[in-house]
Amino acid sequence: MRSHYCGALSTANIDEVVTLCGWVDRRRDHGGVIFLDLRDRQGIVQVVFDPDTEEHFRRADRVRSEYVLKVTGRVRARGDATVNPAMATGEIEVLGKKLEILNSAETPPFQLDDYTNVGEEVRLQYRYMDLRRQEMQDRLIMRSKITSELRTFLDDEGFLDIETPILTRATPEGARDYLVPSRTHPGQFFALPQSPQLFKQLLMVSGFDRYYQVAKCFRDEDLRADRQPEFTQIDIETAFLDEREIMAITERMIRELFKSVLEVDLPEFPHITYKEAMDRYGSDKPDLRIPLELVSVDDLMQQVDFKVFRGPAEDPAGRVAALKVTGGASISRKEIDGYTKYVSIYGARGLAWIKVNDVAAGVEGLQSPILKFMPDEIVAQMIERLSAADGDIIFFGADRAKVVNEALGALRIKVAEDQGMIAPGWSPLWVVDFPMFEEDGEGSWTPLHHPFTAPSCNADALSANPGEALSRAYDMVLNGCELGGGSIRIHERAMQESVFRILNIDEAEAEEKFGFLLNALQYGAPPHGGLAFGLDRLVMLMTGAHSIRDVIAFPKTQSAACVMTNAPGVVSDQQMKELNIRLRQSRTESEKAQ
Ligand code: ASP
Repeated sequence: MRSHYCGALSTANIDEVVTLCGWVDRRRDHGGVIFLDLRDRQGIVQVVFDPDTEEHFRRADRVRSEYVLKVTGRVRARGDATVNPAMATGEIEVLGKKLEILNSAETPPFQLDDYTNVGEEVRLQYRYMDLRRQEMQDRLIMRSKITSELRTFLDDEGFLDIETPILTRATPEGARDYLVPSRTHPGQFFALPQSPQLFKQLLMVSGFDRYYQVAKCFRDEDLRADRQPEFTQIDIETAFLDEREIMAITERMIRELFKSVLEVDLPEFPHITYKEAMDRYGSDKPDLRIPLELVSVDDLMQQVDFKVFRGPAEDPAGRVAALKVTGGASISRKEIDGYTKYVSIYGARGLAWIKVNDVAAGVEGLQSPILKFMPDEIVAQMIERLSAADGDIIFFGADRAKVVNEALGALRIKVAEDQGMIAPGWSPLWVVDFPMFEEDGEGSWTPLHHPFTAPSCNADALSANPGEALSRAYDMVLNGCELGGGSIRIHERAMQESVFRILNIDEAEAEEKFGFLLNALQYGAPPHGGLAFGLDRLVMLMTGAHSIRDVIAFPKTQSAACVMTNAPGVVSDQQMKELNIRLRQSRTESEKAQ
């Protein structure tokens, strides 16, 4: 139908007769001349109808915002006075000759060029309209380009794109499963994959050697901040590559992606151990653009009477750390109160601080409610260790190490945002040497990555001291976001069984849930490993969007629902009967309970 995209026209097309198809972005009537801004996925162009073209002019007069038109006309240069530098096609316009109304439109639920006051709920309910906005078109176009570049890279490197099942058994990645009842096996359920983890490992056992998939994953999590119940991974697995080689090839992939899509040369990717990341940044996905670090002061605080500090300093599971904010002495009491409240979300019971007014004056030059609890020489040593200078503020965390790291790690980011301390640009890194397990608080071990990750030690050392064991896992982090993560996998049955035992999965359960994997490991499983990138997050970072919902065409709300289709929804009694399902509560009862 069309000869050109609206947004693709330029002075190069002057005098050409073009046919455009698109939506009316705006219509203006300027004393007998009608201006239509016509929009398609490439952009907007101005079309002018004057009364010479009588029938078409009358039609142009009738159209309203979001009508769908087919317009034929001649491209002409705009006069100097009417050139619009704010518009990509602002040097030209199309003198309309013919206008066909392909469809009319109701008044849009919100204005497409000025949506800022529109709640997200409304945007999602009319997502097909929201997606017409240039910003959303640009993001999804870039998303498509990113996936295409990634596919090309992986294809060129000999990776095979192989699909794995959606109807499957549980694949543990630490979330709840979405379940699908089976009609043909009454009382039994499929689980939607939390990731293709086990299938991609089995593909390595089968000899495919290098696999990838743009894979949908499903995790029924309590939706914290920016998560989606279904999301997309660039899922990768390789055989006969060790962690160095896997990191190198995927680093090159991301580097080339940034170069081709954003024309950005990413800097070096430093490798930082998990321990160092936690010690220095209180996070396993540190944002290295922030010039603030946590500094341990346990040894000093063991020498003070102040119990709030001495207790955690002496406790092997505790930590006392300081966060110096350069130039932060101007932070007001009110702001400090705000930060105290903020760290309480992470379990911190308070936020001690010292303002440094005049270092040369010693303790006299400091201001803080906690100074009276500390001997002067300890304070002096601490100031020296932190290289604190006039105008700085020092915040403290003292608690279990986990609480201190989380609280000060989050505070580090918050203060940097508030004080404008985040350097521009890109800051990638690898985090390596993760612990194999963490304690779940009830004396049991849970895997930090997933139960198929290989340890760096042998099975005896692992069983003797699970808490000390490191894994062969790695995460790629960019600007404080985990872009991707993976590991070398266990490829021997005995080791896999040892890990299951540590995780309190007994033989019967291991057999029932993972018997197929244990078997496969006995039939010549090669050493293998891989990783998965979160595509949504990657696209979010690359497009500069603030939420992954803004780079997904049809995302779910924070409560894991689709407000456009009203999913999830009730199903008919007949369907329930076929599935052999009876609700424990009647629908009205459960609605009442909500
Ligand atoms: N399956 C892992 C995940 O979804 C990624 C990997 O280990 O390859 O986090």
